[in-house]
Amino acid sequence: MKLEKSKALFEEAQKYLVKGVNSPVRYFKPYPFFVQKAKDCYLFDVDGNKYIDYCLAYGPMVLGHANEAIINAVKEQLELGTAYGCPTEKEIILAKEVINRVPCAEMVRFVNSGTEATMSAIRLARGVTGRKKIIKFDGAYHGAHDYVLVKSGSGALTHGTPNSPGIPEETTKNTILVPFNDEEAIEKVIKDNKDEIACLIVEPVMGNVGCILPKEGYLKFLREITEENGIILIFDEVITGFRLAKGGAQEYYGVIPDLATLGKILGGGFPIGAIVGKKEIMEQMSPSGPIYQAGTFNGNPVSITAGIETLKQLDDKFYKETTKTAEKLANCLREVSERYNIPAKVYNIASMFQIYFNDKEVLNYEIAKQSDTERFMKYFWNLLENGVFVPPSQFECCFTSIKHNDEVVEKTMNAIEEAFKNLE
Ligand code: PMP
Repeated sequence: MKLEKSKALFEEAQKYLVKGVNSPVRYFKPYPFFVQKAKDCYLFDVDGNKYIDYCLAYGPMVLGHANEAIINAVKEQLELGTAYGCPTEKEIILAKEVINRVPCAEMVRFVNSGTEATMSAIRLARGVTGRKKIIKFDGAYHGAHDYVLVKSGSGALTHGTPNSPGIPEETTKNTILVPFNDEEAIEKVIKDNKDEIACLIVEPVMGNVGCILPKEGYLKFLREITEENGIILIFDEVITGFRLAKGGAQEYYGVIPDLATLGKILGGGFPIGAIVGKKEIMEQMSPSGPIYQAGTFNGNPVSITAGIETLKQLDDKFYKETTKTAEKLANCLREVSERYNIPAKVYNIASMFQIYFNDKEVLNYEIAKQSDTERFMKYFWNLLENGVFVPPSQFECCFTSIKHNDEVVEKTMNAIEEAFKNLE
């Protein structure tokens, strides 16, 4: 595979950008390919290689790249101005659409990223309850801010720094960690910290340690135990929002949290985040309440426009098709890994799927970490050489878009077969 121009750009980039990139997961050994453009389910690099894209910018591009309706609406908006620092009607339109879809959403605050959304949701929960402690799951990723960067997934885990230096222990001493899918661990923590826990934040499907599904009834259990103990339940739906179903994981599993955080898909490929939830909690936020939250670019008209155009296209057909595609690919991975006698576990839900090179059922972070990451990177490169780009980490998740049609799936399955031929 020719990657000469990417190599040269990487050498140049390293002089000015930390390790040549602007977010850790974008770097992989020996160097990443540099993108020239993207269309539908394809990425095109500067050396003329074309890849079927299952990373999809780590989630947002569920309609494929350069969606026409989004581009046209955004172009129109660009002519009208790109930031006002004043409210717009479009914010109401998108907020109403979010409220119509997401069960827990009675009010919305738009922010600029998933990180901001979880940071503000946790502050809100602490402010409302007057309690300091929060519960998070081992390996869960809720963005790059201090309170949650403890035993964190995604790039933190991939690059071996799930606890970051530079975060004082005073900041994280109130963050209590528990293993996912373990009821007793939560019961114990809540008992030991009675009336001290402000919130429990959870990715309903853990998309930042691969793709870990909640055991049957587990989310319902979390809902009940938090309710009984006056703990605010936050679903971090930055990945699962608008993906698992129109109303996200809370609709899919029929479990309604008090607050939820959204991002990725909501911005249609532009920066966005949102905190949504019960009115009585949301109204405690500034300016109607005392708990501070603000942002120059909150509710940015370009992102909001892209979000409106995106949600319009997420109809029943979208969910059916993207689910079917992910299921086909997951089944292919199951079949091929078995035929080649390579120990693997494969999980899929809606448009999410991932293979773990692991012989145990992956129920939590500890088990996920035992996967063969070297073999994963071999699989990654083999796929790339066969024109398929998956996220370059065992601990990320693959996504399907509406543009991954039968022909593309067929090509991908052939690439998977080729990839496994060379996997020891
Ligand atoms: N929460 C979850 C579940 C995420 O997957 C991510 C990003 N991958 C974030 C929060 C942070 O979002 P952002 O990168 O937009 O800050």
